[in-house]
Amino acid sequence: MSTEQKSGVLYIVATPIGNLEDISRRAVRILSEVDLVAAEDTRHTGQLLSALGIRAELLSVHEHNEEKRSGQLIDKLSSGLSVALVSDAGTPLISDPGFVVVRACREAGARVVPVPGPSAVITALSVSGLPSDRFQFEGFLPRNSSKRRSRLEELMNLPHTLIFYESSHRLRESLEDFRTVFEASRQVVIARELTKQYETLLSGTSGELLEMLTDDANQTRGEMVVLVEPAPEGGGEELVIGVDKLLKAALDELPPSQAAAMVARLTDLRKKELYQRAMEMKEP
Ligand code: SAM
Repeated sequence: MSTEQKSGVLYIVATPIGNLEDISRRAVRILSEVDLVAAEDTRHTGQLLSALGIRAELLSVHEHNEEKRSGQLIDKLSSGLSVALVSDAGTPLISDPGFVVVRACREAGARVVPVPGPSAVITALSVSGLPSDRFQFEGFLPRNSSKRRSRLEELMNLPHTLIFYESSHRLRESLEDFRTVFEASRQVVIARELTKQYETLLSGTSGELLEMLTDDANQTRGEMVVLVEPAPEGGGEELVIGVDKLLKAALDELPPSQAAAMVARLTDLRKKELYQRAMEMKEP
């Protein structure tokens, strides 16, 4: 008999990111054995459990109540009950709730046991054709364009694959920012609807991908992971300087319109966009 049947354990259980067959046998067993399933969205997980033929007591644990729930879960664990924590899809805690609960439970001395399975970040990397020996997972980029570009500037020279979660309605904006911040030849992969009916992998430079999206709007639909190839070791033959850095240096010496014109000449980017960016950078 498995030692995992002991009570008082918090299991962190990965669930499918699309294809139901990707749930592990161990995950099914744990979900049917525990006293309580703590779920990001009880309705969503209720549907998964009923598709698996599992009846379980559910408790909601999401980003707005994690702190409060942690104490309740610790009480349940210490009274000998076992709990499985799941999110809507993939591995809990990976751009999903769970971190606060896991930290609190471990600090309280509870046993926390992983039940591994799908996660979109690893699934995408495994088929992207980009270097997988070293990579950096960034989760979601900031929504605000100015903050997003600043983050990309920080990442632009890293010599390993970059991986982002992206929402369908921000894909274009992000690709436009990649085109502005990274060197134009940098390869990007969009891994869309992984393990689902319309699973698609698109590769190209950000400029090429933007054209593909214009030609086929379906490619912006659904869930997606965006991966960017590593920066060339040592910065490649050309010295790579971020557009924001160039603009900032130009703004130290010139008024915004002249700074934008100069950077436009150096980078082939549009003067109007650079002027807008210069004005944003001047804001306190
Ligand atoms: N915890 C999940 C995991 O382990 O992958 C991630 C949850 S996060 C809230 C949701 C994001 O993951 C989506 O916006 C998308 O970027 C990515 N994602 C989830 N499922 C996906 C799929 N089937 N195909 C592509 N990307 C997916």
